[in-house]
Amino acid sequence: MTARVLDGQALAARMQEEIKPQVQAFAAQHGRPPGLAIVLVGDDPASQVYVRHKVQAGGDVGFRVDLQRMPATASLADVLALVERLNASPVHDGILVQSPLPKMMGAGAEQRVFDTIAPEKDVDGFSAASVGLLVQKRPKLVACTPNGVIELLVRENITIAGRHAVVVGRSDIVGKPMAILLLHHDATVTIAHSRTPDLAAVCRQADILVAAVGKAGLIRRDYVKPGAAVIDVGMNRVTDAATAADLYPETHPRFAMFKSKGSILVGDVHPEVAEVAGALTPVPGGVGPLTITMLMMNTLRAARERLATV
Ligand code: NDP
Repeated sequence: MTARVLDGQALAARMQEEIKPQVQAFAAQHGRPPGLAIVLVGDDPASQVYVRHKVQAGGDVGFRVDLQRMPATASLADVLALVERLNASPVHDGILVQSPLPKMMGAGAEQRVFDTIAPEKDVDGFSAASVGLLVQKRPKLVACTPNGVIELLVRENITIAGRHAVVVGRSDIVGKPMAILLLHHDATVTIAHSRTPDLAAVCRQADILVAAVGKAGLIRRDYVKPGAAVIDVGMNRVTDAATAADLYPETHPRFAMFKSKGSILVGDVHPEVAEVAGALTPVPGGVGPLTITMLMMNTLRAARERLATV
């Protein structure tokens, strides 16, 4: 069997086309487009790439997008003050502070910043208020990556209700909200993590397997029940030849890409899984583009709900 490819890139493009007329209608009704403020602190290279994509996607669908950059030397108080200003801004409906914040700010800084974002503008869905509403099944703004995975499963007609879903990873931004969303769609859910014994056996129970770990090629063929839907959230940059060779034969185009560029982006799921899974998201081009699209959806929703109440 060769797994059906779940093309997140194509779905994201379709969804962005769906969003555009809604943005135009919003602008016509309210005299301004939905506004998204993105705060980028420091110069982490991966964050710069993610933020560039978010700014571009927001502009493409017709939002006003304001990128607020702060130097890596900014204090936590500076960031909190900026968030407070954006909370009070009438033209910004969504606020996103790009993670990670510089380590110098200390361990609890990120959550403090997320919790300071006004709940009605929390388009990343990371604040305690947003997470609490999600857990109680009255979600408002839901974390974009797990929400994108649900959108993909639903639109690809992959049944969730009554199936066994295994989520590998328990982070606050992906693993936990993913598990809660699957639960709310009536899956029986298992959460696995670094302390789970015999991960392969746990994963083999899954009709829907979501890998959100950050370890290139961790999920091998023997982790997957034949026919299962496998969602690869992982985004790992591989720079060493041994790992690249473990993932792809030397004749594979992706290995050639590694040799020419010196690195490739891969997921947590080993490519050999395509031989047993029923459906599989590619990396790149799977979950990543949907994350950005869900950010657009959240911003539009936040804008509509704010202006309905002011
Ligand atoms: P975290 O590092 O916060 O969490 C990783 C999780 O994986 C932890 O719960 C950890 O367990 C678990 N884990 C680590 N090693 C193992 C192992 N050997 N076996 C089983 N579980 C393990 O990562 P994130 O959740 O932030 O991100 C996960 C991946 O998803 C990354 O590759 C990231 O780049 C990617 N990502 C992709 C996005 C997209 O848009 N496609 C968006 C966000 C993230 P424990 O809790 O015990 O430490």
